[in-house]
Amino acid sequence: MKRIGVLTSGGDSPGMNAAIRAVVRKAIFHGLEVYGISYGYAGLINGEIKKMELGSVGDIIHRGGTVLYTARCEEFKTLEGQKKGIEQLKKFGIEGLVVIGGDGSYRGAQKLSEHGFPTIGVPGTIDNDIPGTDFTIGFDTALNTVIDAIDKIRDTATSHERTYVIEVMGRHAGDLALWSGLADGAETIIVPEADYEMSDIIARLKRGQERGKKHSIIIVAEGVGSGFDFGNRIKEEINLETRVTVLGHIQRGGSPSGFDRVLASRLGAKAVDLLLEGKAGVTVGIEKNELVYHDIDEALARKHSIDMEMYKLSQQLSI
Ligand code: ADP
Repeated sequence: MKRIGVLTSGGDSPGMNAAIRAVVRKAIFHGLEVYGISYGYAGLINGEIKKMELGSVGDIIHRGGTVLYTARCEEFKTLEGQKKGIEQLKKFGIEGLVVIGGDGSYRGAQKLSEHGFPTIGVPGTIDNDIPGTDFTIGFDTALNTVIDAIDKIRDTATSHERTYVIEVMGRHAGDLALWSGLADGAETIIVPEADYEMSDIIARLKRGQERGKKHSIIIVAEGVGSGFDFGNRIKEEINLETRVTVLGHIQRGGSPSGFDRVLASRLGAKAVDLLLEGKAGVTVGIEKNELVYHDIDEALARKHSIDMEMYKLSQQLSI
């Protein structure tokens, strides 16, 4: 293999740049040429492809977002779109591809591999919802952004003696809600992976009120529903001054944490190693702090879930 490509696709996440840097530098270290494909699969189809040098990834390790930009591309879900993509890769003499993105992007990578084009998936999403890795690139940074926001909301919640419902991202996964809720001592954490009873939430709020608690923080994962709906239901059932905050896209931005920079560097470099070893159709990940890889098919067939022990702990600590 002489020449490889790299692209970022789907939702961006902090640390994608560190992963791009690792792919480019590790490839050049091993004497390969690297081409950057802008705007994910859309740029692949349109041939938005440029050679990257050591300097093209200088000064980006600390930046959020992705210097290769990202996009969603419906056309790539079709066989015709995938064929166009492979034609472009051939035209540029690219023999292997690293795709940094979420599970949708993995499905694109899976298709390329099925068509015989060696592709490796690197997990980049704040949602931490990709099977085959304990952590995805961007999760830790987003977690710290959420914690910082909740700490600030807590100040005003205490001053005004209010109940706050905070809706956090995570798509169908509750990881960001669970981790931030545990880290912030939230009274209630509502995640898609666990059933909940509104009556329990109300009872807990009442107990807190009777104990003279100054505020309550309720974290709702977006996968469960709207934070505003929760706020309204609480207001209907208990006479508490309730406010709702939807944290939104603030969670996707910002300078990546040390953890995410290191994770992205390790996973990006591992993807290049795997291409050099002749592996294809696999995803890289980290499990128990060891770098691992799995078949994309196998990874996509697994179901992601939160750590239920951690969920139970969060409930025990917020009695
Ligand atoms: P993420 O990678 O963050 O999960 P998306 O689900 O939007 O984001 O997927 C990103 C892109 O991956 C899509 O816009 C599309 O180009 C490609 N993709 C998603 N699903 C498939 C599929 N089944 N086949 C081929 N490409 C796909």
